[in-house]
Amino acid sequence: MNIPFIDLKKQYNSIKNEVDEAIVRCLDNSSFVGGQPVRQFEDEFAQFLGVGHCVGCANGTDAIELALQSMGIGANDEVIVPALSWISTSGAVSSTGAVPVFVDIHPEYYTIDVEKIEEKITSRTKAIMPVHLYGLPANMDDILLLAKRFDLKVIEDCAQAHGAEYRARKVGTLGDIATFSFYPGKNLGAFGDAGAVVTNNRELAERIRMLANHGQLKKHDHLIEGRNSRLDSVQAAILSVKLKYLNKWNEQRVNNAEIYMKGLKSSNVITPVVPDESKHVFHVLSIQVNNRNSIMKILKNKGIEVSSHYPIALPFLKPYENIGFTSDNFPVAYEFTQKQMSLPMYPELSENEIGYVCDTIEKEIQ
Ligand SMILES: *Cc1c(COP(=O)(O)O)cnc(C)c1O
Repeated sequence: MNIPFIDLKKQYNSIKNEVDEAIVRCLDNSSFVGGQPVRQFEDEFAQFLGVGHCVGCANGTDAIELALQSMGIGANDEVIVPALSWISTSGAVSSTGAVPVFVDIHPEYYTIDVEKIEEKITSRTKAIMPVHLYGLPANMDDILLLAKRFDLKVIEDCAQAHGAEYRARKVGTLGDIATFSFYPGKNLGAFGDAGAVVTNNRELAERIRMLANHGQLKKHDHLIEGRNSRLDSVQAAILSVKLKYLNKWNEQRVNNAEIYMKGLKSSNVITPVVPDESKHVFHVLSIQVNNRNSIMKILKNKGIEVSSHYPIALPFLKPYENIGFTSDNFPVAYEFTQKQMSLPMYPELSENEIGYVCDTIEKEIQ
């Protein structure tokens, strides 16, 4: 059996007519950047989340950079980020001139370990940026309390968690501001690059709109320099079509995760744990196994495409090499990345396919 890590074609085929019509409508209207399709998607996504404002932008990395800049975060500032994420989380902080300050991850949930944040707070710290990693909300209650105590902003990186919930509220509505990526493989993905920033703060939303469009709200009225990080109309139109299916697709992901967790019974496999207060949307189905590299090879040979998120924790990547972190600085993230493996996960995956993946792993692990 051949099981790809992700199959975007299956999803496209299931909504092909609607998507094709939306694209043709943009072409017929010469609607390419901004305009009605972008405004419509921004409204629909804000409504879906239950947040006041949504501003589309070019991608999820820009979204983080714009969010930080809108709050005046830049040179001489520090932003607290988890040691485990996609590099955009720390890279976008550096792009603003600020310094990303890494905090180890929680051993059970893999999101930022709130217990270890306070020791990293200095007089330069301006914000905490939790990542809802793999689709599981970070421990927002404790993060918000800490932020309040130290007068810090909270930016949620929601790139892997469209539709995830924390105490029955959608992620993206919990902090001061939140960022989304609509990269094709995300739970809500465009057919190219796209992103958004959401907030309940009208002033921040307006500043992001300016920053992302050459400092103008009206044509030729440049209030600041800003830059170009706009959302394409075609991508927005596709996202509006796909947003209608997001809840259904997330439910299918949750269902698939349950099948995986039942199928991986061996004590040598660590499967995801979901706390009571959270709704996980399983962007990634992440497990831990002892002999990860050899198991990955075996699975590949059996037609099962697996991946790792991530093989190296952020502090140990080349850009941060000069700081000289050792595994003792981030023991949980370090240990985790030696064992972590991501299994095929997408809504259209069948029970049979998941069964084959589980059986193969169980056989190889004994
Ligand atoms: C994908 C991702 C991003 C960046 O999104 P792009 O649209 O690829 O720029 C940021 N943070 C996390 C956690 C991501 O997974």
